[in-house]
Amino acid sequence: MTAETNSLFEAVVSQINAACERLNVKDAYRLRLGKCERELTTNFPVKMDDGTVKIFTGFRVQHSDSRGPAKGGIRYHPDVTLDETKALAARMTLKTAVANIPYGGAKGAVICNPELMSQNELERLTRRYATEISILIGPESDIPAPDVGTNPQIMAWIMDTYSMAKGYSIPAVVTGKPLEIGGSKGRFEATGRGCTVIAKLAAKQKHMSLEGATVAVQGFGNVGSAAAKWLAREGCRVIAVTDVKGSVYNSKGLDIEALLNYRNGAGGGFVIGFKGGEAMGNGNAKLANAELLALPCDILVPAALENQITAANAAQVKAKIVVEGANGPTTPEASKILYDNGVYVIPDILANIGGVIVSYFEWVQNIESFFWEEEEINDKQRRIMTNAFTEVLEISKAEKTDMRTAACMLAVKRVVAAMSTRGIYP
Ligand code: NAD
Repeated sequence: MTAETNSLFEAVVSQINAACERLNVKDAYRLRLGKCERELTTNFPVKMDDGTVKIFTGFRVQHSDSRGPAKGGIRYHPDVTLDETKALAARMTLKTAVANIPYGGAKGAVICNPELMSQNELERLTRRYATEISILIGPESDIPAPDVGTNPQIMAWIMDTYSMAKGYSIPAVVTGKPLEIGGSKGRFEATGRGCTVIAKLAAKQKHMSLEGATVAVQGFGNVGSAAAKWLAREGCRVIAVTDVKGSVYNSKGLDIEALLNYRNGAGGGFVIGFKGGEAMGNGNAKLANAELLALPCDILVPAALENQITAANAAQVKAKIVVEGANGPTTPEASKILYDNGVYVIPDILANIGGVIVSYFEWVQNIESFFWEEEEINDKQRRIMTNAFTEVLEISKAEKTDMRTAACMLAVKRVVAAMSTRGIYP
């Protein structure tokens, strides 16, 4: 929920409606896109390590399968809601259409705090959740992947649980798996690496070079850390990074490899306490995040959660380019403020499509049982993302609009074309 809209899902629908309006889309399609096709809520028991039983609530939502099987990650977070899951599912429909890969959009979630659970508890929760949603998921119907709070090990448990029920191994039921069981080379860092591809294309439009560009990254999980790593490799100076517990700032540029080692080791998953820089916000994580979003820098990469840039703080954003690694980090009202202030925002449905693109490659490799080299994967990913960027840019120029509206128009056009070609059954 935000002060500006009642629901995250409605915020996405308002974007879709605005695109429909510009494209003169018939009401029948607009109404279909304004709803999710299927919404499953499940309340299920899990045995905890201390012998007690807890009831967890999970969701699996399919927004659209007009362009192919539904596709989307699974989030484990204490505050996740059905509304948020619906919004993320709808964004997946738009993303797969922008990327022009043959998928629809879905998302799943479990209300839980994985940081407070043991590995055994997480495994039992995952296996039960996978069983509950097995009436929807499958390699030809709906293919999950990791998102906030989930990782390749959790995908492995889902793959194993689904396979055991069928009696044989079905790697293509889920992507973002470990390499040992059919994961794809290049998948783990694909979203963050893709943000770098997009940052480079965006910088070119602003007559900037990535070499020496200053970067601030919010969130140092899968997306944020890989974006920081690949941007640093392109010559950027990553000056600030925050996560849910803390922050680290160094005007000369952080040593990202050292920060990654710290997070994976002594930091216990977080950046707080890293010696290669100083904490922001007087050591208060909330203040540090607010400070990071307002930091003078060339490129800002929000890569944590939704609704970080709002009407309340958008005017303070000083970055020239915002690359939305996270889904929905900017509210609709904030988006307008950034546009009016000349900030070049590359929206989530274009900036973070790298993950679902390489997930698509993983699924194709699983179906073919034939695996590709990392170079080939990175090259194919770069090509798809460059095409998508170019197509969105052309629409934004022709329509004299921002990249968010242009990306949404491209996506809606493709989904509507699929719906109209298929017709309505029966
Ligand atoms: P993750 O769980 O690996 O990492 C999330 C990071 O954000 C962590 O560092 C966490 O500490 C930090 N964080 C959480 N709450 C925060 C807050 N309030 N302030 C600052 N930092 C906070 O998750 P992820 O997979 O990196 O996903 C991050 C975002 O990217 C999400 O919006 C997700 O939907 C989106 N996304 C992920 C993928 C993917 O392939 N994993 C693909 C596309 C989009």
